[in-house]
Amino acid sequence: MIKHNILFNNELNGWWCLVHQHRVYLTSPVNQLPSGCFDELGLPVKAPESVHQIGEHQDLPVYMIDVKSADLIDEMDHELFVGIRSVLFNHNEMFEFAARAYQVALFLRTHKYCGECGEQMTLVDWELATLCEPCKHRCYPRISPVVIVAIRNKDKILLAQGTRSTTGLYSVLAGFVESGETLEQTVHREVFEEVGIKVKNLKYQLSQPWPFPHSLMVGFLAEYDSGEINICEDEIVTADWFSIKDLPQVPQQQTIAGKLIHTTKKMMALARR
Ligand SMILES: [Zn+2]
Repeated sequence: MIKHNILFNNELNGWWCLVHQHRVYLTSPVNQLPSGCFDELGLPVKAPESVHQIGEHQDLPVYMIDVKSADLIDEMDHELFVGIRSVLFNHNEMFEFAARAYQVALFLRTHKYCGECGEQMTLVDWELATLCEPCKHRCYPRISPVVIVAIRNKDKILLAQGTRSTTGLYSVLAGFVESGETLEQTVHREVFEEVGIKVKNLKYQLSQPWPFPHSLMVGFLAEYDSGEINICEDEIVTADWFSIKDLPQVPQQQTIAGKLIHTTKKMMALARR
């Protein structure tokens, strides 16, 4: 549970998740969240008035501080902060806290005023929400579900390059859930819209928080059913069936896309036996 606005004092002992823009502070050279009493750690930020507790780790609370530029002790100190994507790829065990801290900080920053009547919002003390006292409008952190699906056809997997991808990697298909849709409907709609084929035998596999800025990736496996590849050029640069023995460059296994591709590969290896 998240506890807001805990009054800061020098005796607070815990893990410190300092968020500055899209980055978090990790200790050098061990790349951990700093832990201990704030004053003894020599952190690059001024002591805050209050902190938020965003979880527990090894029996100690994890505190989040949203660091504004003015709170940095030295402007250069912002280079000590590590991008959240880099935390995912290089310091994976810290990703859960980095992802949550970033999303909580973003929520608090973007919900100061009521979207309904414009009054100032207050924090609810027993759940992560903001409330407008005059009109009772209540807001929760935005979480935008995205389905992501690995489609197999005998010993081949469908991989595509998206128009928005900056990495040049081939990956599985993904798309945002629209209002009023089930996850399964999204998979069928997105696959058909992006590559023009139909799929069957959907199976939920796993999920991953994706704080860029506030998605939740919901991973499925599926089988090809019918149709020819016909790409939507607004979204897809190229898409094709790839033999599992000869894959192009795909996302790393820390990502849900990498995990889904790996699982599909294992399923095909088992099926060949
Ligand atoms: Zn209001």
